[in-house]
Amino acid sequence: MQELEALARKLALAYFVQRDYETILEYLSPEFSWIGTGEVEIGKGTAQLRRYFKQERSTYEGAFTIERAWYHTVFSAPEMAVVTALLDVSSDPKSGMVMEMPLRFSAVYRREQGRWLLVHLHNSVAYTEQEKYPFLNPAAAQKNYNLLKKAVVQAKNQDALTGIYNLEGFVQRAGELRCGPQQRQYALVKFGINNFRYINRVCGFDTGDAVLCSIAGSLKEFCRTCEACGRVEKDVFALLLAYKGKADLDQRMEKLRQRLLSPEIKRKIGAEISFTAGVYLPADLCAEPMKDMLDKAFIAMESCKGEARKNKLLYYDPAMNEQRFEEERLMRQAPEALEKGEFCLYLQPQLELAEETLAGAEALVRWQRPDGTVLLPDQFIPMFEHNGFILEFDFYMLEVLCRQLRAWLDTGFEIKPISINQSRRHLCSEGYLERFCAMVDRYKVPHECIVFELTESAFVEFGGETMALARQLHQQGFLLAIDDFGTGYASLHSVSRMAADILKIDRSLLENFETNPRSRVILQKVVEMARETQMISVCEGVETPEQKGYLKQLGCDWIQGFLYARPMPAQAFGQNCLKRR
Ligand code: C2E
Ligand code: CA
Ligand code: CA
Repeated sequence: MQELEALARKLALAYFVQRDYETILEYLSPEFSWIGTGEVEIGKGTAQLRRYFKQERSTYEGAFTIERAWYHTVFSAPEMAVVTALLDVSSDPKSGMVMEMPLRFSAVYRREQGRWLLVHLHNSVAYTEQEKYPFLNPAAAQKNYNLLKKAVVQAKNQDALTGIYNLEGFVQRAGELRCGPQQRQYALVKFGINNFRYINRVCGFDTGDAVLCSIAGSLKEFCRTCEACGRVEKDVFALLLAYKGKADLDQRMEKLRQRLLSPEIKRKIGAEISFTAGVYLPADLCAEPMKDMLDKAFIAMESCKGEARKNKLLYYDPAMNEQRFEEERLMRQAPEALEKGEFCLYLQPQLELAEETLAGAEALVRWQRPDGTVLLPDQFIPMFEHNGFILEFDFYMLEVLCRQLRAWLDTGFEIKPISINQSRRHLCSEGYLERFCAMVDRYKVPHECIVFELTESAFVEFGGETMALARQLHQQGFLLAIDDFGTGYASLHSVSRMAADILKIDRSLLENFETNPRSRVILQKVVEMARETQMISVCEGVETPEQKGYLKQLGCDWIQGFLYARPMPAQAFGQNCLKRR
């Protein structure tokens, strides 16, 4: 609000006092239009404006004084505002021309590429003064009003960044189309970019914006006149597509996916960008509110989780609704389950390859439900991350682990480092590490017994924050591990600068290593890099003696996987794996 008022003040200053018309041009959108008080004072674009300014100057060369000024800003959309200005302006009496008049301006500002620019200006004399200055142009005023109205409506429905519809615009346009006279069959599609945060973080926000614009451009080209597209959330787009049959729709969607991004953008980013789409095929197009239909497309899109999301297209099925309902029920039960101790600590031993001895273990949670079922972390951790419960949950598991370690230490067991998974969401919460240390210290667990695991993507997305955390963790004597290495986008080079102690190689890197020479080379390079940067290499998901043999040959330090041991309840781990000092 104040920013716009300041801009309007500057404009008035440049126009009346400084009479610096070139500066004014810098504040204007290329699409600028204006309406003055005289019949000829209507124009568009800089060339016409320059001509008008020249004429103004020839009428009166001196400067004006602004006696009084009043500004008022009204936002008509987040990216659009009107500043009304009332100014009392007088000319220099010595110039021979005496002019004193109250003026009124309506200045329409729009955010374009991150800057507020003036798109329209209407200069008119205040209503009460009209009779005295009979040069108000009613036709111009009417036209101005219409222009303003159009611009406001457009700004309300348009996404300022990409120029396609925003949510409101899409809902309105799709609503008009679906019940049109043609009786077409329509599909509602919602799709999102899977790793948009990564793009913003690593390639910069400008590149992120360019990705969105490239997608919007492709959508616009792709849609027929009887169809609509919009950007309905930050990195989520919606489409209303006319279709003949599912096969036809699948084909069109695949074609679209392939050309969503321009080749230049793809080259700029370097990494693969994947999409996930949800499709809703309404039986009766006019029966449901548009937003409900969009929601169903979204439920379909969201029903696909984790790695499986890559370039996946899913059709809405009412069962998805039930699944979602079930998930929500689980989420509601989680806090109580935590209090009742339903979340149990499991430990998966890690094997030191050279000596074939226990190297450490990883703490993994299991949700033991009162009905006897056991839920695996993948069935609830992603949801905890989504709704923020993970922040509390991770501390709970840390406490359970510390309590257990204290008990084992008191028994006289020798403790090898135990890894604990921590969500990336902590990276942005204040006082996190202090809280973490306080918890470990409450149970007087030596810090070197704890390995702090963060996924590779956290290292990439929160580069700066993670570096800072790594430093503090080391000062406190904890170990730091990069988890799931090979699933994100970190380059070998960037990992070598991450100041971690342990590199956990994701089991996807082990996949088909026996048949694929490329996999073998990648695995070999990763192990080499870990060695060269003094990190302990741990390969996860080792299931066969062949995999183990190859890793040993490469000089990998530790392995973790079903071959050596499955995750087991903490008590079993204590009994089977720990020894007295
Ligand atoms: P992760 O950190 O990558 O943990 C390793 C996962 O691989 C575990 O899955 C483990 O059971 C599984 N695994 C181990 N060896 C093998 C193998 O040889 N073959 C196969 N196929 N899988 C193997 P789990 O326990 O289901 O945990 C899944 C993920 O949930 C973990 O992946 C971790 O990211 C997360 N998680 C688990 N417990 C916690 C927790 O307490 N807090 C947080 N924030 N995340 C947790
Ligand atoms: Ca882990
Ligand atoms: Ca892992």
